[in-house]
Amino acid sequence: MAEIRKSDFIWMDGKLVKWDDARIHVMSHALHYGSSVFEGIHAYKAEKGATIFRLKEHIERFFHSAGSFGMKISFTKKEIMNACIETLKKNKLSDAYIRPLAYYGYTNIGIFPKDAPTNVLVACVPWGNYYSKDLEIMTSKFTRHPENATVYGAKLGGNYANSILAMYDARNNGFDEALMLDSEGFVSEGPAENFFIVKDNMLVSPLSKSALPGITRDSLIKIAEDLGIKTQEKKLKLEDVYEADELFFCGTATEVAQIISIDKKKIGNGKSGRITLMLKKKFEDVVRGKDKKYSDWVTFV
Ligand code: PMP
Repeated sequence: MAEIRKSDFIWMDGKLVKWDDARIHVMSHALHYGSSVFEGIHAYKAEKGATIFRLKEHIERFFHSAGSFGMKISFTKKEIMNACIETLKKNKLSDAYIRPLAYYGYTNIGIFPKDAPTNVLVACVPWGNYYSKDLEIMTSKFTRHPENATVYGAKLGGNYANSILAMYDARNNGFDEALMLDSEGFVSEGPAENFFIVKDNMLVSPLSKSALPGITRDSLIKIAEDLGIKTQEKKLKLEDVYEADELFFCGTATEVAQIISIDKKKIGNGKSGRITLMLKKKFEDVVRGKDKKYSDWVTFV
């Protein structure tokens, strides 16, 4: 699961710092108000060295997120991409999770981060499977923040208070994960992953502006289409979910995680679905650079 396994170095504002020395001040703005932006990027052991999956798209989103908070990152996208590669290499990691984070640092105590510096770091930790079991989930009582309560497509630290509430509630009630609805009652996403249903051999994803337009989601839609699976985006009701043949979550950390029940209702035959497993298998090859068709998505390190 997601416990932190230490690595040796963290890249902080352009320098590699020993893990135990990578500290910030307790009065940093981000610690108090969630004024941070971040990415989660997955690196995989490949036949030779490692691959990083869709690094460019993650860094694009990182800068989009930073821009929405008015942060000025004093590094270029290329430099941050190189920092990801350098940190992975310096820590001698291959199956790993890379975490770029930009945050408003030490400043005044007001909400407006006047004159606050934007600090940037890239950490990298060993990573295995996030979920190696079939998931049993519940519908959350916490609504995903509406589109006009945040910035679409931005991964802002503070947004994750909403995710933590949903996740905490799900775990407290004995479930693995939560499915969140949007403010109109349509299906949105999980606390840190996108959601799909399969119905009559079609892959359907929720059309919800409250959900993060995830990079894994985008990749899976393309892969499904290439495999001849029909795809559709539409507003999904909870009843559509209950009546689906298969369900799964997806995300950079989660990859493809099959769901076998929701709100204690069994989905399909209560086992991982055929299309879910087909996509999961193909995805595993694609991220490790084994399928040349998707080589544009993979950075070899
Ligand atoms: N939704 C949320 C809220 C997330 O935090 C994530 C993880 N980044 C996702 C969806 C999945 O996005 P991606 O596939 O880009 O990791």
